[in-house]
Amino acid sequence: MLSLSNFHNFSTGHLEVISGPMFSGKTEELIRRVRRAQIARVKVQVFRPSIDNRYNDKDVVSHSSQSIEAIPVKNSNDIWHRIKDSTRIVAIDEVQFFDNEIIKVVTKLTNRGHRLICAGLDLDYRAKPFGPMPALLAMADEIVKVHAICTICGGIATRSQRVVNSKAQLLVGATEAYEARCRAHFEYSETETEEDRQEQELLNVTTENANPTNNSLQIN
Ligand SMILES: [Zn+2]
Repeated sequence: MLSLSNFHNFSTGHLEVISGPMFSGKTEELIRRVRRAQIARVKVQVFRPSIDNRYNDKDVVSHSSQSIEAIPVKNSNDIWHRIKDSTRIVAIDEVQFFDNEIIKVVTKLTNRGHRLICAGLDLDYRAKPFGPMPALLAMADEIVKVHAICTICGGIATRSQRVVNSKAQLLVGATEAYEARCRAHFEYSETETEEDRQEQELLNVTTENANPTNNSLQIN
């Protein structure tokens, strides 16, 4: 099958999103696309959130130890300010960790004619959409969903099962705390769901208090 990106016209901008669970080879796919461009001497800049400081500080390192140099950034706007004039392709790994501003930055860069390659987890450990990923997937010109292998049955895995007890949305770099699972073998307890709901309500109250002049409608 021919990929859309084979026909990409650089003057129009293009957004590719590679998503899937942990251990599915998202970073390997990002690296493959970046390397292919570098062979053609197309200028690429690779970014990753500095929150993810496993392995070498300057490298995007996949689990299979293929690596490529990446610029660690603190937030989405940092990417915008670091783009060089000569850059044609912008690749962002672990894009799910960025704040929602990443959606604006990605939009501005594609509108300016860049080809964007973003890789990130589509779902968190509760199998809920992860941060800015739903918006990025909706805006994408091309989506690649990669899969892992379920550690229980060997089937196609689309979920990241947390095997330690913690409520952080993702334990950065703690790959031993996760296993790839299929839908049938993915487990997430209902009691935890109720606690998460209450936590989210608390967060909403805090946000409302912080913005007393915000008159926008909220859908709950
Ligand atoms: Zn399974």
